[in-house]
Amino acid sequence: MSPDYLTTPPPIPSAAIDGDPRRFALRRVLCVGRNYAAHAREMGQDPERDPPFFFAKPADAVFDAQPSAGASVEYPPLTNNLHHEIELAVAIGTGGRAISSAQALDHVFGYAPALDLTRRDLQKAAKAKGHPWEFGKAFDRSAPLGALVPAARIGHPTSGRVWLAVNGEVRQEGDLSELIWSVAEVISELSASIALAPGDLILTGTPAGVGTLVPGDHVSGGVEGVGDLARRVARQRA
Ligand code: MN
Repeated sequence: MSPDYLTTPPPIPSAAIDGDPRRFALRRVLCVGRNYAAHAREMGQDPERDPPFFFAKPADAVFDAQPSAGASVEYPPLTNNLHHEIELAVAIGTGGRAISSAQALDHVFGYAPALDLTRRDLQKAAKAKGHPWEFGKAFDRSAPLGALVPAARIGHPTSGRVWLAVNGEVRQEGDLSELIWSVAEVISELSASIALAPGDLILTGTPAGVGTLVPGDHVSGGVEGVGDLARRVARQRA
């Protein structure tokens, strides 16, 4: 029997599935920090193979409405330095704890291109003070997402161009083969620390070339073998 709620329960966050009218219900969004050497260097870090580190966004930060439906990226408040980060997103279909790398891909439902939008100025200020990055990363609609493509259709990509263009000019470029920690290793590391469950979405890190978005920009990007996404940055700052 469902409990009697005092308040209206919030909607279940979800993502579109390519070729399927049903939606993929989301539980958490877990993001990998620096996972491409060239991006680690551009952020002033030594790209040694330190253990991966993770941060999170709320599931309702995922925003997957398509441009045909008038979708745009809302320019978030309190920033003058909104950054784009194009990433491969991995949707977990089967949960588990302490998953081995060898078994990890069996837990994947599918893949999508995603943006890890970042209020870089807030993130940098937080880092400098030793504060959490939370509000640099986990703001409203900070995770635009393309349609999920089932692994049953495309397999598990380990190479393929990861790219992002602003107003038609390519800014970010890398390849899945350059991931410091592979998708399987990321799943294994995460599940050693927390239980994964169906609906978890993992953003696997961004290649070099991150930069600023301003209102009116047109962002396009994608992951070869998975899919593309395109968004307009709203002209009005929220
Ligand atoms: Mn990122």
